Amino acid sequence: MTDFDYDLFVIGAGSGGTRASRVAAAHGARVAVAEEYRVGGTCVIRGCVPKKLLVYGAHFAEDLKDARRFGWDVPGDCAFSWPVLRDNVKAEVARIEGAYTDTLESNHVDIYHSRAVVTGPNSVRLDDGTEKTAGKILVAVGAHPAIPICEGREFGITSNEVFDLEAIPKRILIAGAGYIANEFAGIFHQLGAHVILMNRTKDILRGYELAIRDRLLQISMMKGLEFKFDANFEKITKGDDGCLTVHMSGHEPVTVDLVLFATGRVPNTKDLGLESAGVELDDKGGVIVDEDNRSTCPSIFAVGDVTNRIQLTPVAIREGQAFSDTFFGNKPTRVDYGCIPSAVFSHPPMAGVGMTEAEARQKLGSVKVYSSDFRPMKNVLANRDERALYKMVCDGETDRVVGIHLIGPDSPEIIQGAAVAVKAGLTKAQFDQTVALHPTMAEELVLLK
Ligand code: NDP
Repeated sequence: MTDFDYDLFVIGAGSGGTRASRVAAAHGARVAVAEEYRVGGTCVIRGCVPKKLLVYGAHFAEDLKDARRFGWDVPGDCAFSWPVLRDNVKAEVARIEGAYTDTLESNHVDIYHSRAVVTGPNSVRLDDGTEKTAGKILVAVGAHPAIPICEGREFGITSNEVFDLEAIPKRILIAGAGYIANEFAGIFHQLGAHVILMNRTKDILRGYELAIRDRLLQISMMKGLEFKFDANFEKITKGDDGCLTVHMSGHEPVTVDLVLFATGRVPNTKDLGLESAGVELDDKGGVIVDEDNRSTCPSIFAVGDVTNRIQLTPVAIREGQAFSDTFFGNKPTRVDYGCIPSAVFSHPPMAGVGMTEAEARQKLGSVKVYSSDFRPMKNVLANRDERALYKMVCDGETDRVVGIHLIGPDSPEIIQGAAVAVKAGLTKAQFDQTVALHPTMAEELVLLK
C-alpha cells in the first residue's frame, strides 16, 4: 500500500465522495479527492439545497395571500425580486461549499481542483498531466441531466442552469414529469410563470403511489398548470423575439420563453478512462458494483448516482460511509436499501416510504389499505381549497405497515418519523396504540380508518 501516493483516491467531491474521503482519512488512510467543478457536488451546488431554498422562497406567494385571512395587512401589490432570492441562495451555496472544503482539509484530505481520469487499476491523471497512484480508487462522479434528442435542443436549459437565470420567464415548458419537473413546476408557478408540463407518457412521477400523484395532478391543474401528455419532441425553434416554439407529437405547437429539460439523469462515466482498468458499465453508463461498492476491477469502487442504483443524496452518503468503514475502518458495513423514504418538494409536497398499494398487492397478495382525505385546518381558514391525502398500506396477514404515502403541507417532515416505524416493522395496531398529537396533520397517521 505504501508504494502508492495515496491509500485512497476519490474522484468527485459530492455527497458520496466527500463522506468517503473524510471517513477514510479519519480512519487513518492517506486520502486525496479530485473535483473538476465545485466541492459539494450536485446536491449542494445545483440540486437539493438550492432547490429547497427556492421552494421556500416560492411558497411565500401562497403564504402572503393566506396571511390576509389570518389578519395581516399584506399590500396587494407585494413585489417579488428574483435577483434577491437567486443571489441569496447562491451565497448560501457558497457558504456550504466552504464548510465542505473545511471538513476535508481538517481531516487532512488533499483536494485537487481538477478533473481526474482513470489510467489503470491504481492510477489517475489530472488536468496538468500529473499521475497519482492509489491503493484504491473511488469513483463518485455523479450524473448529469439527460436531454432528449431533438432539433433545437440547444435552446433549452437543464436544472444545472436554472439557478443562474436572469429573470423568471413569463411562460415555461418543462419536459418530463418526474421529481425535478414537478418541483420546478411548483416553483415557477408560484413565482408567476405560466407552466406547461410535457411528458412522453400519461404518468407523472411514475413509481409513486397512484392516488397521491393523482392528487398532485388535480391540485396542479386547479392552480392553472397546463399538462401535455403522450407528447414527444419534434423540434424547438427560436423566433426573432427570442421566444421558443415547441413542436410535439399529438398537440399543437406551444410558444414559451424558456424550455427546461427534466428528463432523467445519466451517470458521468463518459471519457473517464474506466475501460483502461476493465471497469464494466451498465446500459445507461452506470458503474456496475457489488454489495461492497466494488466494480469489476478489484481496486476500483463506486458510490452514489454514478452507480445508477438509487439517485438520492442520503443513499450516496451511506454508500460512501459503508465503503470507508469497510475498507479503512475494519468495520464491514453494507447499505440496507429497504424502506428508503423519499419526497417530492412540489406545491404541495408529497412523500412516501415502503410499498405502494400496487406493489404490495403484487408481492403480498392480501393487503389492507387505510386512507384519510382531509383539508388541513390552515387551508380551511385560508379558504384554500386544497386537500391532503394520507394512505397507509398494510400486510393483510400480519397487520404490518408496509407503506405510507402522503401529500399535503409538510409531508416530507412528517414521513421521516413515520419511516422509522415502517422500517422497524410496526403494525397498524401499534400505530393505533399511539395517542394522537392534536391538532396536527400527522395525527391522521394514528387515526386512519
Ligand atoms: P425522473 O426519473 O424523476 O423523471 C424523468 C422524467 O422524464 C419522467 O417523467 C420520464 O417519463 C421522462 N423521460 C425520461 N426519459 C425521457 C426521454 N428520453 N424523453 C422524454 N422524456 C423522458 O428524473 P428527474 O430528472 O426528475 O430526476 C433525476 C433523479 O434525481 C430522480 O430520479 C431522483 O432520484 C433524483 N432527484 C430527487 C429529488 C428529491 O429527492 N426530492 C429531487 C430531484 C431529483 P416516464 O415516466 O414516462 O418514463
